Amino acid sequence: MSQHIDNPSRAQESESSRECGYQHVDVERYYQASLEIENNRHHIEDAREEITELQHTEAVELFKKQVALLQKRLVNDPKFFQQTFITEGINAIAWEFQQDELNAEFTRTLWQLMLKNDDMSTLLLRFLWNIPLKFKRKFIRAIDTHLRKRYPMFEGLSNGWPGANNIPPYIRPPHERADDFDLVNQGYMGYMGLGYSFREVELLVWLEVLRDKQCDDRPCELGLPKMDGGENEGGCPVKIHIPEMIHLMGEGKFKQAFQLIKEANPLPNVTGRVCPQEIQCQGVCTHNERPIEIGQLEWYLPQSEKLLNAQANFDIRDFANPWAKAEKPPIAVVGSGPAGLINAYLLSKEGYPVTVFEAFHELGGVLRYGIPEFRLPNELIDDVVMKIKQMGGKFVTNFIVGKTATLDALKRAGFWKVFIGTGAGLPRFMNIPGEHMNGILSANEFLTRVNLMKAHKEDYETPLPETRGKHVIVIGGGNTAMDAARTARRLGGKVSIVYRRTQDEMPARVEELHHALEEDIELKVLRSPREFIGSDKKQFVTHALLDVMELGEPDASGRRRPVATGETEEIPVDLVIMALGNASNPIVKDAEPGLKTSKWGTIEVKAGSQETSIDDVYTGGDANRGGSTAIKAAGDGQAAAREIAGNIPFTESEIKSLVASAERYTEKGQAPQKILQKIGLAEGIVEFVVYSPLIAKSARAGQFVRVLAWDKGELIPLTLADWDAEQGTIDLVVQGLGSSSMMINRMSEGDDFAGIAGPLGLPSQLHRYDNGETVVFTAGGVGLPPVYPIMREHLRMGNHVTLISGFRTKDLMFWAEPDQRIGLLQAEYPDLLDVIYTTNDGSFGINGFVTGPLEEMLESMKAGTGRTVGEVVTIGPPLMMRAVSDLTRPYGVKTVASLNSIMVDATGMCGACMVPVTIDGKMVRKHACIDGPELDSHIIDWDKFLPRFLQFRKQEDENKARHGFS
Ligand code: FAD
Repeated sequence: MSQHIDNPSRAQESESSRECGYQHVDVERYYQASLEIENNRHHIEDAREEITELQHTEAVELFKKQVALLQKRLVNDPKFFQQTFITEGINAIAWEFQQDELNAEFTRTLWQLMLKNDDMSTLLLRFLWNIPLKFKRKFIRAIDTHLRKRYPMFEGLSNGWPGANNIPPYIRPPHERADDFDLVNQGYMGYMGLGYSFREVELLVWLEVLRDKQCDDRPCELGLPKMDGGENEGGCPVKIHIPEMIHLMGEGKFKQAFQLIKEANPLPNVTGRVCPQEIQCQGVCTHNERPIEIGQLEWYLPQSEKLLNAQANFDIRDFANPWAKAEKPPIAVVGSGPAGLINAYLLSKEGYPVTVFEAFHELGGVLRYGIPEFRLPNELIDDVVMKIKQMGGKFVTNFIVGKTATLDALKRAGFWKVFIGTGAGLPRFMNIPGEHMNGILSANEFLTRVNLMKAHKEDYETPLPETRGKHVIVIGGGNTAMDAARTARRLGGKVSIVYRRTQDEMPARVEELHHALEEDIELKVLRSPREFIGSDKKQFVTHALLDVMELGEPDASGRRRPVATGETEEIPVDLVIMALGNASNPIVKDAEPGLKTSKWGTIEVKAGSQETSIDDVYTGGDANRGGSTAIKAAGDGQAAAREIAGNIPFTESEIKSLVASAERYTEKGQAPQKILQKIGLAEGIVEFVVYSPLIAKSARAGQFVRVLAWDKGELIPLTLADWDAEQGTIDLVVQGLGSSSMMINRMSEGDDFAGIAGPLGLPSQLHRYDNGETVVFTAGGVGLPPVYPIMREHLRMGNHVTLISGFRTKDLMFWAEPDQRIGLLQAEYPDLLDVIYTTNDGSFGINGFVTGPLEEMLESMKAGTGRTVGEVVTIGPPLMMRAVSDLTRPYGVKTVASLNSIMVDATGMCGACMVPVTIDGKMVRKHACIDGPELDSHIIDWDKFLPRFLQFRKQEDENKARHGFS
């Protein structure tokens, strides 16, 4: 090797000599003589003589001038020399490649030069990238043979390279990873953890790229045309220019490759990790045995840039704040999943003032609450959010479009166009016997408790079903099932995935399934739950009865249909996680009658467009497709952004006014929800007046809010006791029973809640009773505050109301004085409002429960001596509601119970607030948060429902003890 690397300088010298035309021999003699003197050799005198003789010859004078000139050029243009050297060096390397095999010394030196990460090394990469395949193979054979000691991953690489062999990314071994939440697939960067340098890793990535065939028809980007002319098979939904990306990387231009990819996809660090590449870009790779690791390359680029420079992912270009510039009208983006984020990113980049309205207190959609950290670190979502903020994008969390405000209200607030990226977050269940039992929950609920609410961490409040050492089964075969199973495994569960087809039909990413199996998760294929069996009293699941299935004819999806064989299998279970996919959340649809939806509830778009049936309202992602993929959602967000950024029909001053209005609205949404007043109502019962202007504006009687009191707290539902739209305040009454409510009651005036979302649930259905019937409210304890606004509405409508308000004892009573809420209502509606108080201990009013006076009323109604009871509304402790319901049933009086159930998201996404009801003799699953909170109490299956309140009793006791409340 060295002889060839030396060659260029000599070649350069002789070339220069010829060009200058002086006498080469004289110069050579002069040069040798100089060396003799310089090196103090014994011919020094002879040399001096020779120099004196030659120094004034024409040739030597010319040579000296030439050297001076070169020195000057060296100072002014060092690259010239480098380039000359490099060109010659490459020629020498090319010569080596003509030999049968590359020898060990050459290979090592070549690799060393490539590692230098200078111009020469980039050139070497370019050289190798451009040589014919047979030479590339020679190179791979050489590194396999000569460098395998330092790089064990090179061993055997040449067998089947490039089509059937490659260096895979670094995956943490199963025994190391199966108990923690750290990243499993660490990509090529993971090799740094084994002691390889950044540049070495870069070369590993480059070796992967070197396999590329540089196909002309770009299947990885465009997909393959289908015979029927339908959407191409495979390819990239956001049309990343994959061939160019690979080409740039092949030539060692990693930075340029990153720039290129960023243009098409602001989320490469995310999509590179979660895309189902095996059916998209890699699925149509012409290396069909072992496709190029395009996904890995996609996320390697941003991640390596991030490592080199923490700010690299953020555009350092100073974006003029689009709100301050006010040159384009504001856009509202609903939902912060990949569809919403990419839409907000692209529109912000185009200079639009954008506000993202998100239902949760955290951003990222499924990327945050669904996909666990061991697959997708949350910091990557934070990076994207940060980028959007840097471009002026704003975020309003705890804002539920369709509840906090309608689409129309957003437009009235100044937003010109709206993009709906609300996902498909309504979990599906099987509706089989026993599914209501404790210990059975949706994957959404389970994953949200862990990923979003960090329930598995000591210092977080959200309870989590016990998993350690428990038999956990996960029903389903998609990504959600894999995530749930692997999460349960990490929490110490003995986990099995139950799937009704076979492994080949599983829709999960192949990698996730493979990792799950490596982590000792059992696969029970051709099994489908038929029934869940549990202990009668506590209603905790103990067994699952599974149908044994076989595969029949293909169904509409092309997969063979699973058919029950008639055989069954019973297995012990402690926890069942249902991962059967998601249906569409009805909240936006129900609030927008003009929004056209499909029979599955997905929002429809016009042909070839992302626009919905409502002008200037666009959609995409799961909201439109049903459960799909992150990259498809991102592709839709991108397409919608292009459409939204169309012709602007406003004058400059109109735009300024829209921007000012939308900005004010956004600020209202972002305003801290501060406690303005704290009123002690009774022992352990506190009323809070909280600044929350947007909820106050939309609140209706019967609705509730979802409260996150502090960052590590849990999400709890609290019914609205009152609100004042003008003051922008809401009233919440909290009785300190559990640890969260006790902690809330310790909060003070001036404190902020971490987040309050709402108003949630359906408002009370109010009916005008024309014949003097009375509407009876039975309120138990702090059931009184939620009853208050509903009965006030009835009174305002002119209905007669009877309030039966029960307390344990007189000391716990509140709002009863003449200058307090109930007293004031009595004064305002003396003819319409009757109030009866009961106390369990007889210390005030009637001795006993609310059922006592209610029964009397029902009896006198029956006897024809008292008022007709139009309906009964019962709110309070579940046992009281049940007693009221049981009492009214024989009288045929409509009875409504307002259920304050266990909830997580309170918007239908988790399914935790399940209420088993019976309709036409069949058990149907209702959800208190979207079907309620008020439900017909006579159809509620109270035997099945009440035990749900005991689900987390143990965890609750532990939390109390932790806070010193027990
Ligand atoms: P989402 O990500 O669902 O985001 C919607 C957002 O809108 C949420 O933040 C939600 O809170 C908010 N929202 C809802 N309603 C309202 C409202 N009324 N007002 C305001 N905000 C609202 N796909 C892959 O490609 N690869 C995977 O590996 C993968 N794994 C998955 C694992 C799990 C557990 C799940 C559940 C899904 C997975 N998917 C995967 C699917 C993928 O995550 C989704 O297709 C994608 O997130 C859809 O993006 P989106 O932006 O349409 O909606």
